[in-house]
Amino acid sequence: MLLALDPQGRVLGIAGALGVRLGRSANGQALPLADFVTANSAALLSGTPEQWARDCLDLDFIGNDGRALHTRGWLTATRDGWLFQAMDIGDLIRHQEAGDQRRQALLHAGQAAERIRLASASLLPQVTTELLEALALRWRVPCMALALYMPGGQGWQVYAQYRGHGAPGYWQEGQRLGQELADLHGRAPQRWSWSQLSQHPRLFALLGDGPAFLVPYVEISGITAWLFCAPFEPDTDSALGDAEWQQVCAQLAGPLLARLRDQSQRHEGGRLEALQGMLGAGWWEYLPATKAVLLAPALAHAWQADEQGRLPLENWLQQVHPADRDEFRARLRSAELNGQGFTQCLRLYLSGAQEAAIWHRVQTQVQGTATPPRVFGFLLDISDIKAQEASAAAAHARLRNLIASAPAVIYVLRYEDGALLPEFCSESLGPMLGWTLAELQQGGLAERVHPEDHDIFFARSRSLLRDGQVSCRYRLRDRQGGYHWLLDEVRLLRNELGQPQEAVGIWLDVTEATLAAERVRESEERYRILVEDSPAMICRYTPDLVLRFANRPLADYLECRPEELAGANLGAWLSDEQRQTFQERLIGLTPEQPVSTAEICLQLPGREHAWWIWADRGVFDEHGRLLEVQAVGRDNTEVRKAQQQLYQGAKMATLGEMATGLAHEMNQPLNVMRMAVANVLKRLANDEVQVDYLRDKLLRIEAQVQRAARIVDHMRVFGRRSDVEQQLFDPREAVEGALSLLSEGLRGKGVDVRLALGAERFAVRGFADQLEQVLINLMVNARDAMLGKKEKEPDFAPSILVGLEKRSAWAELRVEDNGGGIDPRLLEKIFEPFFTTKPVGKGTGLGLSVSYGIVQQMGGRLSAENGVEGACFRIALPLFADSPSQVPGEEPAAVPTGLAGQHG
Ligand code: ADP
Repeated sequence: MLLALDPQGRVLGIAGALGVRLGRSANGQALPLADFVTANSAALLSGTPEQWARDCLDLDFIGNDGRALHTRGWLTATRDGWLFQAMDIGDLIRHQEAGDQRRQALLHAGQAAERIRLASASLLPQVTTELLEALALRWRVPCMALALYMPGGQGWQVYAQYRGHGAPGYWQEGQRLGQELADLHGRAPQRWSWSQLSQHPRLFALLGDGPAFLVPYVEISGITAWLFCAPFEPDTDSALGDAEWQQVCAQLAGPLLARLRDQSQRHEGGRLEALQGMLGAGWWEYLPATKAVLLAPALAHAWQADEQGRLPLENWLQQVHPADRDEFRARLRSAELNGQGFTQCLRLYLSGAQEAAIWHRVQTQVQGTATPPRVFGFLLDISDIKAQEASAAAAHARLRNLIASAPAVIYVLRYEDGALLPEFCSESLGPMLGWTLAELQQGGLAERVHPEDHDIFFARSRSLLRDGQVSCRYRLRDRQGGYHWLLDEVRLLRNELGQPQEAVGIWLDVTEATLAAERVRESEERYRILVEDSPAMICRYTPDLVLRFANRPLADYLECRPEELAGANLGAWLSDEQRQTFQERLIGLTPEQPVSTAEICLQLPGREHAWWIWADRGVFDEHGRLLEVQAVGRDNTEVRKAQQQLYQGAKMATLGEMATGLAHEMNQPLNVMRMAVANVLKRLANDEVQVDYLRDKLLRIEAQVQRAARIVDHMRVFGRRSDVEQQLFDPREAVEGALSLLSEGLRGKGVDVRLALGAERFAVRGFADQLEQVLINLMVNARDAMLGKKEKEPDFAPSILVGLEKRSAWAELRVEDNGGGIDPRLLEKIFEPFFTTKPVGKGTGLGLSVSYGIVQQMGGRLSAENGVEGACFRIALPLFADSPSQVPGEEPAAVPTGLAGQHG
């Protein structure tokens, strides 16, 4: 640049490219040179150009753009003034300044490192922040932060940050940065330009939207710190280059990291110490020079080491249990010689019972190639674990024994490409089937499955894979070739993706149960056939008589199909009375007396009546409630009819036998009438008939006619067939009926008939005519016996007593004679059919046996004994429970069950 000056130093003209323009004063005069330079430079321009021209002149001009222009120039005199030749020395000055700044910066950084080294641990973050602030102010960085790779495994974190007034807050202390810095790892440790950073969106977000500047700190392990500056980008001609920035960063981060590492190590050491104390564990080291071991404080006491933790090796070995000692010694030796580390569990050798109770695990490492190498390790009290191991092993052994001795095989199948292959079987496989796992693995299971069960077996695998579990039964061949029925329960286990991994299952040998079930089924089948084919009627019904099952014979009798009978009511075939009696009988069934037999009378379709002998057996629940009745019946109608005919025949025989007596009986009124008629006729012939006399005779005749008619009527009634169903009647009627037929005849033979019937009325169920028949039989027998006696003893006075009495729930009829009784040896035989002691043609031997049957059919009992003077026959009949003649207030006594059918 050239400036032309006048002798007073006013600028006349400017030439050159440095961008300083010539200015003029308001009145158009040239301005002094001082007006073109900065105030500092203006101070140099006192005096005249002559004085300035002695030295070179450093002037800062004010450029067109307002910036200072550093120049160095010389004045040379011209004809009419001065010429100032100047050249730009801006670069030179900046260089110098940068050098200064660099020196100061490094000085400052050195001080920073010193402060960090000396700061107390708690003040470290604060000191770091202050140092960042100083840096920021010096380099005019709005925001600064120091991110560290924190020791102790905490990873990347913003350790300290500073931001100037009004600067945006990009970071906070303690902010974790693992994700954001990930992109920088593994790259060259260098400064990152803004455009480079902008390719990493995560970093970009972290560094705000202005330009940013990142300075790495590199250690052996790689980058361990970053200095963030934002929004900031140093000028290329800035005082600090990348290397200096890294140095600044290193002065800050290096000592800081060292302090933090130290802290964390101390922390860890403390933790380790505490842990060792808690575990009763610790390190040890072998000192070859002194043939001793050095033990951690936590161990020193337990192993009786000296205060420094030293213990002669031989003493140490002596404290190891003899069982483990030699092995330990040998292994230690080999570690020392061959550099092989090892781990051994050993027992402490203490006298007394606990000797096996304290276990230690010794871990040994060998380091270094020097001879001897460094042998050291770790000791851990594992008594707890050993005790647990022992109890777990015992429990495991128990479980194994249990599984092995169980009648079940537990197995595991491995899933491989759609197939399930045996992988494990409990030891019970051998005892149960005789196979080994290896054999099952070789041959496959399917081959050993019974051919008939193949379908089941293959379906099992399919549904196992589909549904995840399955339960089925099939037969598997054992080593001897026999088949076992197995209940197979198996479950599929899947991995987290839902793909089949393996199947765990159990085989239960259910051969016996299955065969037993089979036998039961077969037996049931046999019984079913038996029931179906039985000629007897068999059925099951509920207590309210609803049929649950009926076999074919029963259905045939009832004229329908067996299946129609289920649900039908048995009562439909019974008369109301029969049904009532039937149900009363069922009420009498108890778990102790579950069986009852009776003859029941039914009204069958198409037949008049049917008589069935019916045996019921009650089925009870645990509370003794009647659930169901099982019954077997047989048709007794024919027998019944024959019996009726027999009774009828017997009656007719009685009538026949009594014909003489009856003739006498009839003769009596006839004689009376004949005499009355003869007398009346005689009087009529004499014409002496008086009305009163006539009426008297006629009344007498009428009375005799009535008497005869009564006898004839009764004979007719007696001779009639009995009713089909039993009726209620008073036994007195039977006594009277019998006497009406017999008394005259007896009297004629000189037999005295005495009655002791009492006034009480009774009701019994049965047939009055049949009971009359019984009484006649008894009285005729008594008469015969007495008349036989009279033949031998003419003075003998025959006498019969007929009595009627109530004995608890029974009505008792008694026929007693004085004919001398029955030979005691014959007492048991007299009820047998055809037993008689009477001469041929006189006795039939049927009277008492028929009588016995009749009384039995009425639910009663006929018995004989010898009284004082003769035989005494008793007929006990159950009183009808609802008898109206019951004495009020007297409880009806229960009819003893099972009495019917008992012989007296
Ligand atoms: P039958 O009268 O035809 O002989 P029964 O059955 O009526 O047949 O009697 C059987 C036997 O019992 C008689 O033959 C007799 O020996 C004996 N018997 C029955 N009743 C008496 C009685 N009241 N006293 C003595 N013996 C009797």
